[in-house]
Amino acid sequence: MASRDTASVGHKWVYDFTEGNRELKDLLGGKGANLAEMTNLGLPVPPGFTITTEACQAYLASGTAPAELAEQITAHLTSLERAMGKRLGDPSDPLLVSVRSGAKFSMPGMMETVLNVGLNDASVTGLAAQAGGNERFAWDSYRRLIQMFGKTVCEVPGEEFEHALDGAKRAKGTTNDLDLDAADLRALVDTYKTIFRKHTGRDFPQTPREQLDLAIFAVFGSWNAERAVLYRRQERIPADLGTAVNVVAMVFGNLGPDSGTGVAFTRDPASGAQGIYGDYLANAQGEDVVAGIRSTVPLQELEKLDPRSYGELLGIMARLEEHYLDLCDIEFTIERGKLWMLQTRVGKRTAAAAFVIAGQLVDEGLIDLDEALHRVNGAQLAQLMFPRFRLEHDVAPLAAGIGASPGAAVGKVVFSAERAVELAGEGESVILVRRETSPDDLPGMIAAQGILTSRGGKTSHAAVVARGMGKTCVCGADALDVNVRSRQFTVDGQTVREGEVVSIDGTTGRIYRGEVPVSPSEVVRYFEGSLDATESGDPLVQAVHRIMAHADERRRLRVRTNADTGEDAARARRFGAEGIGLCRTEHMFLGDRRELVERLILARTDADRQEALAALLPLQRNDFVEIFREMDGQPVTVRLIDPPLHEFLPPLEELAVNVAVAQERGQDAAKEEALLTAVRRMHEQNPMLGLRGVRLGLVIPGLFAMQVRAIVEAAVACARDGQVARPEIMVPLVGAVQELETVRTEAEKIIAEVVGDSGVEVLVGTMIEVPRAALTAGQIAEAAEFFSFGTNDLTQMGWGFSRDDVEGAFFWRYLELGIFGISPFESIDRDGVGRLVRIATEEGRAARPGLKIGVCGEHGGDPESVHFFHEVGLDYVSCSPFRVPVARLEAGRAAITTTGSDSR
Ligand code: ADP
Ligand code: MG
Ligand code: MG
Repeated sequence: MASRDTASVGHKWVYDFTEGNRELKDLLGGKGANLAEMTNLGLPVPPGFTITTEACQAYLASGTAPAELAEQITAHLTSLERAMGKRLGDPSDPLLVSVRSGAKFSMPGMMETVLNVGLNDASVTGLAAQAGGNERFAWDSYRRLIQMFGKTVCEVPGEEFEHALDGAKRAKGTTNDLDLDAADLRALVDTYKTIFRKHTGRDFPQTPREQLDLAIFAVFGSWNAERAVLYRRQERIPADLGTAVNVVAMVFGNLGPDSGTGVAFTRDPASGAQGIYGDYLANAQGEDVVAGIRSTVPLQELEKLDPRSYGELLGIMARLEEHYLDLCDIEFTIERGKLWMLQTRVGKRTAAAAFVIAGQLVDEGLIDLDEALHRVNGAQLAQLMFPRFRLEHDVAPLAAGIGASPGAAVGKVVFSAERAVELAGEGESVILVRRETSPDDLPGMIAAQGILTSRGGKTSHAAVVARGMGKTCVCGADALDVNVRSRQFTVDGQTVREGEVVSIDGTTGRIYRGEVPVSPSEVVRYFEGSLDATESGDPLVQAVHRIMAHADERRRLRVRTNADTGEDAARARRFGAEGIGLCRTEHMFLGDRRELVERLILARTDADRQEALAALLPLQRNDFVEIFREMDGQPVTVRLIDPPLHEFLPPLEELAVNVAVAQERGQDAAKEEALLTAVRRMHEQNPMLGLRGVRLGLVIPGLFAMQVRAIVEAAVACARDGQVARPEIMVPLVGAVQELETVRTEAEKIIAEVVGDSGVEVLVGTMIEVPRAALTAGQIAEAAEFFSFGTNDLTQMGWGFSRDDVEGAFFWRYLELGIFGISPFESIDRDGVGRLVRIATEEGRAARPGLKIGVCGEHGGDPESVHFFHEVGLDYVSCSPFRVPVARLEAGRAAITTTGSDSR
């Protein structure tokens, strides 16, 4: 950090717009860098200068401004005054300026802008005279200054000014601020000054330079405003960047009907469609357009009002697109027929527009396909894959909250977790409505189709847990008055009672009464093959098609899927999966097979056990045949059974009750009693760390052998039918090479025996999901033909917390505190768990060159994590069928990304 008397000597703290450029966002902030860029393009930007983020950092670190800052500001102000031919706040012909914050990333919660700095009781008269005697304009500008300065620099409650303004309009019998004349506005200035004095204990500052300095330091200080700090934590924006301050000569859109102000996009930011989109407001200043004070007109109307400025604006917008090679948004003002550009940046857009625009820019020859791929991302693609509400007409929503976890959910409202569980158990689809949720609500959240709360933002408990579960959630719908006790909520005079149906949209945050029909998105229909990209006239589908094809061409990572059934496997293949990275065998022990599993567990002799296993064998074999058929020659990694066996038995409490009841009635409960004894015997304090995975295979004789046999027999059966099957047998939860060797020796015997001359090739490998396995990967690789990182368990064991217990209990708090920016179960923890992955990959490949390595935890479908796995050099990622396209896209992006992207 620059200290006042050493590093700051001779340091440049202030840049004129002619000195900067768009590359200097770190130093000049986004707004300042782009103002400089436009200035240098020769576009009509009012002159001005930018005080650097470094000055802000120095100010915040030491509590005072760097020594030469004041001098440098004076020097730049003087040359600004010279350029404009006016002096700041000169009573006869005042120069006025705006003071605008502008960090590297645009950030809500920081100080906004103060316009008209330099006005005071004297210069307001000069301004009127210079504006051809337009007194109304001058007093309007002055009252705006007091209002903005009071609110943002001195923290006077904004409502007080608004009430006063409303009062003036009411007295005049109007709702339009244009109906207030010079005398009204002059009176309003007096009222505003009184408000200012009441809240600050001082008079509104009359010295122009003092106004300027106070505004600049207020911008600096706002970097540490509570909301800004919170926002940075959530968005993982470093806390020490600081903000720049832009001082810009004022131009006036409120000088009369031939003046005005507007905002515009060079393409439609919602759909991406070509053409200009914007709003214009005549005779208005700055924020009036967005503040909704008066109704704006579509930008196209400007063509009639001021064809010359309109033409010039269109030309500039085309120029900006050519220069930035992207959609730009702009702010402009027209002062008496003269157009001024006040801001531009590469504009925010919806997910759909991102794809469409990237495709268009390729067509227009402005960017290549690599760049198009770089400009979209997996999160956007995932958004395009959620089912959507099909709103027949313009159905008005009941209310809107924050779209916290996307999706479209329809169900009966319930107000407690118990009721949610109860109704869901009856097969009803429910929406859990709460003021806010707590860990106690977890069972209800799991049972519900969607979650709706009236409080809390994107990091509230409800939002975090819902996102973790991939469940639709709308939070912070504060218009809803939720009454849990009387089981109803009211909104806008309407009452919705328990059992009534609502539809919630987790993307837009909208809440509808009744059932809104949902349909799969076009993009999903395209992936599924029911919509042809070339035939479809949908520009979105065409753009997705092209960009995905390019991603597939570029990516080095293969993408597999996690699928346990033939049906899942088939869907994943349509989505582009190139194999199964994780086929869990647990479900093959459920349903009507429970009986067999119980026999296996209760077996007292080897013969009993062998009999139970022999009965399971053909069932498992059939399951595998089905999956191998679907995958048609692609590799299929089958994980031998992982969870503790007692998970397949009835719960302890239930058994205990049954036994007690039977004994009471004198009935024969021998079987139940035996089960109860077994469950009691197998009860574990901490099943996550108990008898599961390879440990189970080593303890229950014949269990793994049966599974291996079923897999290999299925593969051989396929081969006999002329179909290639490529099984990869995966041993879970290995921590030591000896465990794997023991299983492997037994498996190899069976493989040799069953394969015979069928030509089937079987690999035996292991999951790396216990930290010790990662740390001894060199040894383990001696016995493993492949590795697959089970990053769910590796994260649990790496951090030492159990996912089921922590996500609902305290993750929201950790996120709030910024201990992590995102749950490590959602996105790989690069520094910790990721380090284990790196070590295991390096040491595994050192011991066995060419070792095939993949990942099958949920991270395989997470964009950030995919980039990490690409960097580490894995061969493939495996994820749920629905995430396969996302992983393909991100694997492509990872392959072309050479520098870290810092777009936000
Ligand atoms: P934000 O980042 O909130 O958009 P800005 O600094 O861009 O804040 O300013 C708010 C409004 O004031 C915008 O409409 C902007 O165009 C307008 N504005 C800023 N500086 C000037 C100026 N020098 N002359 C006229 N209008 C200005
Ligand atoms: Mg702006
Ligand atoms: Mg595991």
